[in-house]
Amino acid sequence: MNYHLILTRQCNLDCVYCHGGRDAGENTEIQYDLEALARFLVEDEGIQLMFYGGEPTLRIPLMVQVMTRFPQARFMLQTNGLLLHRIPEEFLHRFHSILVSIDGPLEVTDGYRGHGVYNRVLENIRWLHSTGYEGDVVARMAVSQQSDSYRDVRHLLDLKGPCFKHVHWQLNAVWSAEGNWVNFDRWVAESYNPGITRLVDEWVENLQKGVVEGVVPFLPLMHDLLTDSASPIRCGSGCDTFAIHTDGSIGVCPISPDWAFSIVGDIRTTKPHELRNIMTVDEPCPSCEVYAVCGGRCLFVNKEHLWGQEGFEKVCGTVKHLIDRLKAALPEVRRLVDEGIVAVGDFAYPEFNNGCEIIP
Ligand code: SF4
Ligand code: SF4
Repeated sequence: MNYHLILTRQCNLDCVYCHGGRDAGENTEIQYDLEALARFLVEDEGIQLMFYGGEPTLRIPLMVQVMTRFPQARFMLQTNGLLLHRIPEEFLHRFHSILVSIDGPLEVTDGYRGHGVYNRVLENIRWLHSTGYEGDVVARMAVSQQSDSYRDVRHLLDLKGPCFKHVHWQLNAVWSAEGNWVNFDRWVAESYNPGITRLVDEWVENLQKGVVEGVVPFLPLMHDLLTDSASPIRCGSGCDTFAIHTDGSIGVCPISPDWAFSIVGDIRTTKPHELRNIMTVDEPCPSCEVYAVCGGRCLFVNKEHLWGQEGFEKVCGTVKHLIDRLKAALPEVRRLVDEGIVAVGDFAYPEFNNGCEIIP
C-alpha cells in the first residue's frame, strides 16, 4: 500500500493558503522508532513511502535513514523544492516521482509562497536535471484567487530548461474560504472554468499532432472515459493510501492529523491488511451522475464539508465542468486512438499513485 510518511510538521515557508510555517501544531517531529515502523511495514507487500510534511526536506538525515532502512520500498517526494539540492544524489535518484510546489509564473508563485521562491525552485529543478534524474518531475500547483487556470498551467507546461513532465493543480477549496477568496463564484465563472475549457481544447489540438501533454487531471480521466472504467477515490485515501503521522497514528489523509474521524490505526497496533478500504465517501457522491469518473474528489472534504453544502456543490460544479469538457472531446480522442495518432496507454497516468489527487 501507499503511505504518506510525515517527516515533520514544520515548514520553511508560510504560504498564504496554508500558513504551515506558522501553524505547524503540536508533535511536529517523529515520536516513534523506525523499528516500530519496520514491524508494521513488514506485514505489507509492495510498500510505497511518500515523504510529506510540513516540508520533508527539513529532515534529510531522517529521509536518508528511512530510505536506507527500507531498501525494497518505492519512494515519492512532495516538496516545496527549496532544499532539494541538499538531498544526496544517490538517494535523490531513488525517487520514482518528485512533486514540487509551484503555482505558475513568478508573480503568482511568489505572491502566494513568498519572494524569491519561483526562481529558487526553478534553479533547483535545473540542478535536479543536471544530476541526470530521470524520474517524473511534477509541478504541483495550488490554485486560488489570484490564479488564472489557463495562464498558469500553460506557463508551467511551456517551461523549457527546466521543464516539468507533468503539471497538476489543486483548488484552494478545502479549508475556510475566509481570507482566501474575494468572490469564488465569479472567479469560477469568469476565469477558472473558461481556462479549463481552453486548456482542454489546446490539449486536444496537441493530441492531433501526436503530442500528449502531461496535464495530470486530464490524463487518467480521459483514460477512464476511453476504457469506460470507473474509479474509486482517485487520491486513494481510505482505500490503499494512508498517512503515517508523526505520533505513529495512521490517518486516511495526510492533511488531517487533527481530525479524529481520519485516524484509523496506529503503526504499533494495526496491521496493514486491516486498513484497506476502511473508509469510503458518503453521499452525495455515490449517487452523483459523475461519480464513476470523479471518484468522490476528496475524502476529507466529503466527511468534513468545511465549505458547507453550498460550497461543496460549488466546487463540484468545477469538477463537472472539467468532466463535461473531457467528455465533449472524447469522440475526437477516440478517433485519434483509432487512427493510431495516440494510444490509450498514453493516458495511463500515474504509473503508481504519486500523491497527485487527480481531481482538482
Ligand atoms: S462531483 Fe461532487 S458530488 Fe459528484 S462525485 Fe465528485 S465530489 Fe462527489
Ligand atoms: S484529495 Fe482530500 S482526502 Fe485525498 S489526499 Fe487530498 S486532502 Fe486527503
